[in-house]
Amino acid sequence: MIRYHHRIEKLTVMTIASAVEDLPKTSRAAVLADFNAPLEIREYPLPTSLAPGALLVRMEAATVCGSDYKLWAGRMGGALPLTLPLIPGHEFAGRIVAFGEGERVDSMGATLELGDRIVFVHSNCGHCDYCTLFHQPALCRDRDMYTFTSSDQPPHLFGGFSEYLHVFPKSGRVRIPDEVSSPIASASSCALRTVVHSFDRLGRLEPWQSMVIQGSGPLGLFATAMAHHAGAGQIIVIGGPDDRLELATEYGATDVVSVADVPDPDARVEAVMELTGGKGSDAVIELCGARTALLEGLQMVRVDGRYVVTGPMDEPGTEVPIRPGYLTGKQVNIMGAWSADISHYWKALEFVRRTAGKYDFSKMTTSQYSLENATDALHRMGTYADIKPVVIP
Ligand SMILES: [Zn+2]
Ligand SMILES: [Zn+2]
Repeated sequence: MIRYHHRIEKLTVMTIASAVEDLPKTSRAAVLADFNAPLEIREYPLPTSLAPGALLVRMEAATVCGSDYKLWAGRMGGALPLTLPLIPGHEFAGRIVAFGEGERVDSMGATLELGDRIVFVHSNCGHCDYCTLFHQPALCRDRDMYTFTSSDQPPHLFGGFSEYLHVFPKSGRVRIPDEVSSPIASASSCALRTVVHSFDRLGRLEPWQSMVIQGSGPLGLFATAMAHHAGAGQIIVIGGPDDRLELATEYGATDVVSVADVPDPDARVEAVMELTGGKGSDAVIELCGARTALLEGLQMVRVDGRYVVTGPMDEPGTEVPIRPGYLTGKQVNIMGAWSADISHYWKALEFVRRTAGKYDFSKMTTSQYSLENATDALHRMGTYADIKPVVIP
């Protein structure tokens, strides 16, 4: 398990810089005070000053992630440390309304101005071995995280289900291209950037190769389009319900396997073997988070194939039995992927910008909710009623 320390006090000891002017005094937020209970609308004071590098953004859109639902339902199982109350929403797009002191550029060097829209990443320390030596800042030992930081702590506004949000000074940030809508940019800031990271881990896909995508939620659907755009020869999507599998086909799936129609895991493995001429898939990517998907994926991947596991959180009670020799005998190249770094955010936005005429991702974000209805948005995520609900604070 990755451990985080929350050192929010470091914000308050930094030099206080430019004052925040011409803004309301408070921000309304939908707050998780009790698991499984309706979110409470609370008001928090807007910061009156910002540390160097910090930003204040007006939330444009906060799309709901599957882990927001799990968090609300009290099913994170200690995968990440958290203290209630907190503000859900860690997929977001915000419009800059105030800057702390310092250079006004994004992480790619693009100029930022008041009114620009951005996505931004959890705050990494920048000086631990994972930040510097191993170049894996998403594995930073000392991260400040959105949502998972209690809203009792100043400056309070750490989650997307809020009118305003405080961007940590060290948070990487990327300007959203004008062509990309705020809901899609928001969905790019967790779902798609995670898929981009997973594809980075997976490596190159060739036109003669097959790929299995386990899951047809937002991650699986984004992955389908990415595999299609990258030129995979055969794309098999396993999931449901049917409307999602239809969308997967629209995004480039050559074959779909419905878990409702094929409820037996062995039969699903058999289906993939049949579709791949009996050899198994060159690549498999797990994006559904189901506990037993790992065992299926290991059987679906071909000998010496590649398997990236991205969906599950590290929760006690989700153990599955594996026969170690099976991995040896198949010489499986198995990789995990955790979260993403700022480069993946940029790549995600660039992918949706460049493929806007090719894949209509707005078909995933058709339902919008106010802060007052944010609990419904969580429900509809958890019950598969919406693919990617959008909270517009
Ligand atoms: Zn997420
Ligand atoms: Zn670090």
